[in-house]
Amino acid sequence: MREEQKDLAELKERTEYLWYKYNFTPQKKLGQNFLIDPQIVDRIIESLKLDKQDTVLEIGAGTGILTEKLAQKAKKVTGIEIDRKLCEILEGELKKYANLRIFCEDITQIFSDIPQKKRFNQLQSDKVVGNLPYQIASPLLLDLVKKKWIKFMVIMVQREVAERLLSGPGHKKRGVLTVLANYYARVNKIIDVPPQAFIPIPRVGSSLLKIERRKRYQAKNESNFFSIVKAAFSSRRKMLGNALSMKLGIDKELLKKKLARAGVEWKKRAEDLKVKEFVSISNELGGYFD
Ligand code: SAM
Repeated sequence: MREEQKDLAELKERTEYLWYKYNFTPQKKLGQNFLIDPQIVDRIIESLKLDKQDTVLEIGAGTGILTEKLAQKAKKVTGIEIDRKLCEILEGELKKYANLRIFCEDITQIFSDIPQKKRFNQLQSDKVVGNLPYQIASPLLLDLVKKKWIKFMVIMVQREVAERLLSGPGHKKRGVLTVLANYYARVNKIIDVPPQAFIPIPRVGSSLLKIERRKRYQAKNESNFFSIVKAAFSSRRKMLGNALSMKLGIDKELLKKKLARAGVEWKKRAEDLKVKEFVSISNELGGYFD
């Protein structure tokens, strides 16, 4: 057996042993596909460029394959895991790491619960990492890219979501997620990851992404900007001008002038626009709609 296959087999065996020891069965509805390829694990850790000053938030810590390495390299690690059985594994196997704290909670709720200061301090971290459960990946990413305290994230998502995030102007897969995520952050692919890197083996491949928050945003009114992006993509086959005037109820003559001033053609389609063109439209339109 080749060296890499041997490493993969060992990690698979270790993961299955933990499932057996703690009487755990993976659940599809929680996106429970566990990473068993040590080369990918190393690539994730390397991409985080950790030092002993770093604080890290891990989303969906699972059986702790990344969590343990993070605890060895960073100053403080906070792991979020929704599944009680997996929390038992994490707490049982990683108790020697004093710099690790596990929250057995739902990541989609944890920030909306009014945080006590102490708890919020524990969650707030410089870097975020996660092999995201596919069911929540897109809305969660949109929530995370807005958080000013995150410097950057190294995130594994389903290939389909990665393609949407990485689609440039003119691409069919470009949509609201693409434009909003790229407004807040720079998104780059680190590597594609095949289904065989996980157990149970998922039906589709994944991609590892680096997502770095931008320092400054350009829209004068972000809520207008969001409304324009959503309106434009709500009828993506329509010409941009028609989609915006219909969806936002803006007078066509006025909109023509505003689009011209923003330097964007009426007859373009939403997917053809750069993020900065959406920003220009939103800044030109100012308070012309609510
Ligand atoms: N990090 C592990 C790995 O790489 O092998 C597990 C990754 S698995 C794709 C996703 C993990 O997220 C699972 O452990 C699952 O239980 C957890 N999870 C799913 N939904 C969650 C939620 N809403 N909040 C927190 N964790 C969640």
